[in-house]
Amino acid sequence: MKAMQLGAPRAALRIVDLPTPRPGPGQLLIKVRACGVCRTDLHVVDGDLAQGKMPIIPGHEIIGTVVEKGAGVERFAPGERVGVPWLGYTCGACRYCAAGRENLCDAARFTGYHLDGGYAEYTVADARYCFPIPKEYDDTAAAPLLCAGLIGYRSLVLAGDAKRLGLYGFGAAAHIVAQVARHQGRRLFAFSRPSDIAAQRFARELGAEWAGDSTAAPPEPLDAAILFAPVGALVPAALRATAKGGTVVCAGIHMSEIPAFPYELLWGERVVRSVANLTRRDGEEFLALAPRVPVKTTIEVLQLDQANEALARLREGRVTGAAVLVP
Ligand SMILES: [Zn+2]
Ligand SMILES: [Zn+2]
Repeated sequence: MKAMQLGAPRAALRIVDLPTPRPGPGQLLIKVRACGVCRTDLHVVDGDLAQGKMPIIPGHEIIGTVVEKGAGVERFAPGERVGVPWLGYTCGACRYCAAGRENLCDAARFTGYHLDGGYAEYTVADARYCFPIPKEYDDTAAAPLLCAGLIGYRSLVLAGDAKRLGLYGFGAAAHIVAQVARHQGRRLFAFSRPSDIAAQRFARELGAEWAGDSTAAPPEPLDAAILFAPVGALVPAALRATAKGGTVVCAGIHMSEIPAFPYELLWGERVVRSVANLTRRDGEEFLALAPRVPVKTTIEVLQLDQANEALARLREGRVTGAAVLVP
């Protein structure tokens, strides 16, 4: 099979010919139909995260069809469409797993980081972590739901019942969260890189009543803010924009250093918190909710061998919505 593989941090992905993987016990062999490109893939490529598997095939927003089932798999049938998310394995036994917080599992393994992912013609995945995909979505439109959607949704839940919601960074996750938030009757304020007029226009199209530069103050205080941009300086900026009792949710897996800030920005029972990974329950809830909103994804489709270009465009903020690779 053809795959786009990372051989070393900060290198370009190379197209390689590999043997098609065989499904082990509990695994599905999946023919990849589409794979979304996530900011986390950039962090993997850039070596921002603790070393995972190397070489690695990135990609954790996989839509594909089941080709073959390994021993002991009872769910799914050959030909059935499935999604493979970031959460690829949990131990089921640690204190987090036992408490229903498998997203924090001490021994978790993640797709496209510890486990080869979807920038390939085929992949294998543990069937227990795969999701059926709602029929309302075609393959490419569904791909961004698997991480931008899922982890965006988890971030939104952790923002509580905030009525006035700020979104910092208006990319793949924010464009989905915006639709869910509006569906829930929240008011939306969007922040982009300074002077990114296209992102601000996109945010208004998706229901933001105000969109502006991340350095600007919103017209009124926020009840919560979600930071999708991996920029530490946005933490004090978002706290400054947030009303007493409000929450600032850091949704990315990596962020540049957070600058020191005066305690008065946190005072008033403001909360700063992160969001880590997903649980299978998040996936089931969000994939049931998405077609009811209905969430419509805006995507730019590229060929598998254009993965480096897709990553470069994401890095430079030149993707509207989400980039999706097709083999
Ligand atoms: Zn565990
Ligand atoms: Zn992701």
